[in-house]
Amino acid sequence: MRNFLKYLTVFVMFVPVLPAQDKPSEDKSSDVRFSADMLDKSVDPCNDFYAYACGKWIAKNPVPADRSSWGRFNELQQRGEYIVHDILEKAASAGPGRSANEQKIGDYYASCMDESAVEKAGIKPLESDLGRIAAIHSKQDLPKEIVQLHREGTDVLFGFDSGSDFKNASQIIAEVDQGGLGLPDRDYYFKDDEKSAELRKKYVEHVAKMFTLLGEDPAKAAVEAKVVMEIETGLAKGAFDQTTRRDPQKIYHKMTNKELAALSPAFDWNVYFEGVGAPRFDSLNVVEPEFIKNMQQVISAHSLDDWKMYLRWHVVHNSAAMLPAAFVNENFEFFSKTLQGTKELRPRWKRCVGYSDDDLGDAVGEVYVQQTFGAEGKERTLAMVGALEKALGEDIKGLPWMGADTKAQALVKLQAITNRIGYPDKWRDYSTLQIVRGDALGNSRRANQYEVQRRLNKIGKPLDKGDWPYTPMTVNASYYPTQKNITCPAGILPPQFYDNRADDAMNFGGIGAVIGHELTHGFDDEGSQFDAAGNLRDWWTAEDKKKFEERTDCIKDQYGSFVAVDDLKLNGKLTLGENTADNGGMRIAYMAMLSTFAGKEPAPVDGLSAEQRFFLGWANVWCQNRTDALARMMVTLDPHSPGKNRVNATVSNMPEFREAYHCAAPAPMVNQNACRVW
Ligand SMILES: [Zn+2]
Repeated sequence: MRNFLKYLTVFVMFVPVLPAQDKPSEDKSSDVRFSADMLDKSVDPCNDFYAYACGKWIAKNPVPADRSSWGRFNELQQRGEYIVHDILEKAASAGPGRSANEQKIGDYYASCMDESAVEKAGIKPLESDLGRIAAIHSKQDLPKEIVQLHREGTDVLFGFDSGSDFKNASQIIAEVDQGGLGLPDRDYYFKDDEKSAELRKKYVEHVAKMFTLLGEDPAKAAVEAKVVMEIETGLAKGAFDQTTRRDPQKIYHKMTNKELAALSPAFDWNVYFEGVGAPRFDSLNVVEPEFIKNMQQVISAHSLDDWKMYLRWHVVHNSAAMLPAAFVNENFEFFSKTLQGTKELRPRWKRCVGYSDDDLGDAVGEVYVQQTFGAEGKERTLAMVGALEKALGEDIKGLPWMGADTKAQALVKLQAITNRIGYPDKWRDYSTLQIVRGDALGNSRRANQYEVQRRLNKIGKPLDKGDWPYTPMTVNASYYPTQKNITCPAGILPPQFYDNRADDAMNFGGIGAVIGHELTHGFDDEGSQFDAAGNLRDWWTAEDKKKFEERTDCIKDQYGSFVAVDDLKLNGKLTLGENTADNGGMRIAYMAMLSTFAGKEPAPVDGLSAEQRFFLGWANVWCQNRTDALARMMVTLDPHSPGKNRVNATVSNMPEFREAYHCAAPAPMVNQNACRVW
């Protein structure tokens, strides 16, 4: 089950939800710590700190053939991948004494790996879906079919899910959202530059090829692919771009079911809601009313036969990973090679490890944390979070631009933030999910059904604070404004972080600033609109809000001036929250480090002071390479800036960096017009 984090969840980095890839030959126990021999001493740190700290790593670590990017986080992911691989191999080969979860993860993985069974089954596993679609009699019957496909996790026409009520955050309500696009974002359908036009042409060719693999005549498939493109372009017209989706005011429209029905009378919502398996409800969040209104027009504008083509495409697209090699390869050609610049498909075992994580993450995760994450990891992380929260409190109290009333509110909000470290207290119960050895696609379908149902069951219930949005193996961290919690899973906390050789200065600049980044998200342009209860409510005085916006404008302009690839600049507004979080996170991590030292400067290591090592700790997190194709894609999709800007722009805003590296005033790493929000 992929792509269920729709909006508002703010991570420390972006993970494309397109087919993942990985590196072919690698060191299983990657140590992601920084060491002094990584420094490129031919570069002046005041000139280009990123090149000084990462240059050597970048030269030694080109993007592997089966990936579109490679960074230090990927090394961490790789470490986790080998651990999970061992867990799955053991569970797959063990005999009858297996626990219920071992049976599920072992048989899921074994089925995924059984290529000959997948080839032998061919497209047979799709027959029931394709047969149902062929048998639809009228457009009136579309809602019934959408129910079936949504229950299997196939993204068609629109999205339906549960989510927090922005204005009553302790309650979970139903929500209808945009959806049903095959390309990664609505902008892909409209951008008029040459590269985008070429991508659209290749996308249509890809859709046609997938139809021919289903056995259709190539000429007919080409015509049908064009129809699919027309329908998706029609739907995309009503959809928001990524920048708009970061604005909570624009994605919250609570209405009654009747009001929703009035937006699109051609679609029978009663049939849909009754069939999809959600508890009864009378009102919901219509995330983008314009999308639903527009959807009505697109439904009317196309014939039933057109809609059948569109649905068939999404069925085969959604199932591609578990179909025979011809489908997998064609899917790779477009979504990885053309879109992201990846050269090779990653080995099957790695793909199957990824799918097992996606579909049975808690069952794998329970074993994973037993092997990798002890009480020591949790304690050390909690101590660091405590120090960072204290620093943020002091930072807020000392802000020169904020008035006393807003400060008092901000401190209440800080107090309300909760921390989830390592792994959830309660694991998901998979007892109702049936995993059958030898049925790869069926297993994936049933896992999707299980996850869809689990999410819909939340509707009408209070928020379950113990439910994690992703697995403990995940190498990432996040903040969610309506739940006002940070989540820091075991995957991003490797033993090197808390073993007794760990360097505090490096740790504060690395994982400390990452956690500080998440805390700051509570106070970025988006998070600052939610109050201490997690509700969308303005708690600012008008004067302080104005000063806040002047300061965030500085960040917006600074990052918006950076070139991402060719002549394409970063979107300063899309990346504003993340850039604010990077700058704030570094500041409070630095403050927390100093207070931990309590006036006792630690001894230099390799001739580097603790302050210098702190900044190297930050740079080390973001050393990365990426293909130009991915860099281009990220400008549209990714709210984070590229590693180079995350490092250089952030340090250039900090006088502490200037002092640590003794930079003379006019130097590239000294921003004369330094931006500071928090
Ligand atoms: Zn973030």
